[in-house]
Amino acid sequence: MDGKMISHVTDKLWHFVHNTFIAGWQELMLSFAASILAAALVLVIEARYVGYANSGLKRIFFTPSRSTILDLVYFILYTTGVITLLAIAFSAGIPFFFASALKNALNLDVGPMLPTWIHLPVYLIAADFMAYWQHRLMHRIPALWKIHEFHHSAEEFNTITVFREHPLDRAINVIAMTVPAIVIGVPVVAFPLFMTIYGLIGYVKHSRIPWHGWIGKWVIQSPRDHLIHHSKIQEHHDTNFANNFAIWDHLFGTYYTGSNFKPVLGLEANPFNRRGAIVDTCQTQFRFFKALSESGADIWRKRSARKRSEIRR
Ligand SMILES: [Zn+2]
Ligand SMILES: [Zn+2]
Repeated sequence: MDGKMISHVTDKLWHFVHNTFIAGWQELMLSFAASILAAALVLVIEARYVGYANSGLKRIFFTPSRSTILDLVYFILYTTGVITLLAIAFSAGIPFFFASALKNALNLDVGPMLPTWIHLPVYLIAADFMAYWQHRLMHRIPALWKIHEFHHSAEEFNTITVFREHPLDRAINVIAMTVPAIVIGVPVVAFPLFMTIYGLIGYVKHSRIPWHGWIGKWVIQSPRDHLIHHSKIQEHHDTNFANNFAIWDHLFGTYYTGSNFKPVLGLEANPFNRRGAIVDTCQTQFRFFKALSESGADIWRKRSARKRSEIRR
């Protein structure tokens, strides 16, 4: 990286810090308050159904488990915007670089060719489609799973569990979200309203509200189906990957069609929730690098073996 590039990166970073935390502090406070209110609303509704003793409300405010504390730390990191700084730091800014290079290289902006009212639905559907495939890759590729298992290490659903995502998970998500933005542009009309609704869906999905029905099955993924996705029971593995729109799992054959609706949350061997958020976050990063180097070594070994057998022939 030359001097010019470094100053470009620091400029961009300073821009983000200034716009978010200094010039934009009022909006930040407003969105922080909105996140707390939305979470409180979902937590109260959940308590009505499952009873206060079993609710996330009780765990968060009075009897937090270690899993709840990790959820709380990440809730603060995400809702205060700090997660973006961590995502840049943990990924060395690579996905952000990649996303902006892709944007400049393609310069595809079909948005103006389409009527304005169609921008938002097209963007939301395309972004959700990308998120579905990103999610599948996070489960499929061993190194990526080491990042995503951080989210799956939650031992209970506390509503705010939606934010329990490692900074690298967030960084990779930038690419998935950028591709539809490149093609259609980020729609401005009603976008904040839809993002608020998206936020609410995330909270509901990570609660124990017993809502399902045909909408939960076919349109917006229900908490029941997302619980199945988080379950460590073998028959639940690799099912219900949808981010918001449940239809992708039906279309691509990953919808859970079994009859066991008693999921057990967490990981088989769960190394998380014991040593605090900083250790869990850093260890996830090390596990990712380890898995990445092991995959690299494996590919190299297979290539060398193939070459040797070709020479012998
Ligand atoms: Zn997952
Ligand atoms: Zn989840």
